[in-house]
Amino acid sequence: VAKGRGRNCFEFYRHRMRSDADARLKLSGRLRKAIEGGQLHLNYQPQVDMRTGEVRGLEALVRWRDEEHGIVSPVDFVAVAEASGLVTALGEWVLRAACQQAAVWRELQLVPVPISVNVSPLQLQRADIVATFQRVLRETGTDPALLELEVTETALMKNPEASARRLAEFRRLGMRVAIDDFGMGYSSLGQLRALPVDRIKIDRAFVRGIGAGDSGAIATAVVTLANAFGLAVIAEGVETQAQRAFLVGLGCVEAQGFLFSKPLDADAATRLLMQGAVLPVATGHEHRGRH
Ligand code: C2E
Ligand code: MG
Ligand code: MG
Ligand code: MG
Repeated sequence: VAKGRGRNCFEFYRHRMRSDADARLKLSGRLRKAIEGGQLHLNYQPQVDMRTGEVRGLEALVRWRDEEHGIVSPVDFVAVAEASGLVTALGEWVLRAACQQAAVWRELQLVPVPISVNVSPLQLQRADIVATFQRVLRETGTDPALLELEVTETALMKNPEASARRLAEFRRLGMRVAIDDFGMGYSSLGQLRALPVDRIKIDRAFVRGIGAGDSGAIATAVVTLANAFGLAVIAEGVETQAQRAFLVGLGCVEAQGFLFSKPLDADAATRLLMQGAVLPVATGHEHRGRH
């Protein structure tokens, strides 16, 4: 019986592997066409000063609208791009689209707002990435000081020395660098200090429970660490006034989160900038929270 079941399991597994591989192959073919054929677009999530609601930056987040699958999440297709060698093309598309949007805003004479672009770990390993980024900035007339690159902590920790050298090159060109999803990768203090970065983004996982039973100890530790190393800090995933109040109390004044705004399409982001780039932060309920 055991033997029979074993074989069934194996066959099931193999069948699944095959269909997963098929599915991935199909998906990567569609993705390649989407990159070439304009089915991708960027949304922009405001990064706000939680005290005033002023928009200090916008994170570019890629979206794929597929005819058959609808909106495909970047969580799913960035992995497909990495597995199928499309990540360089995807990354260049994202950077160019963000820079072109910045050029549109410049034409409209809006106050320049820095844009953060996510860079995948495989993309960062490509030897030509710095030259490619430099070329895209030049072609789109983008001021490097208005561009921040986000690299996840786990990606950096896989290859700290090579990553550090690469990030230092970007910074030498005037771009800023942020460590995304910080707190999940368990980098050591020594490694963190050696990384040429400008700011840390506190992972949503360490913001989520604040005000709902979580003491916020990790968020507190990350802010202390950032202060000690002279790095700026921003919180991800702020959804409640309790989280906002706690973080501002810690001295972490910048955040991204649904409390302020979801990622906006280009038109909505343009309207926000035209209206003065300020989001509402106070609801009148905030003084009822515990202090
Ligand atoms: P990320 O860089 O950490 O981006 C933040 C994600 O959190 C976004 O999801 C955003 O919509 C979501 N988020 C922001 N505020 C809140 C909140 O208050 N509550 C909740 N529940 N979620 C919030 P999104 O757009 O689905 O992106 C997911 C991930 O996909 C990103 O995480 C990033 O790692 C990756 N990604 C997105 N765009 C790109 C890209 O252009 N290139 C690469 N390489 N990766 C990208
Ligand atoms: Mg990010
Ligand atoms: Mg993040
Ligand atoms: Mg994340």
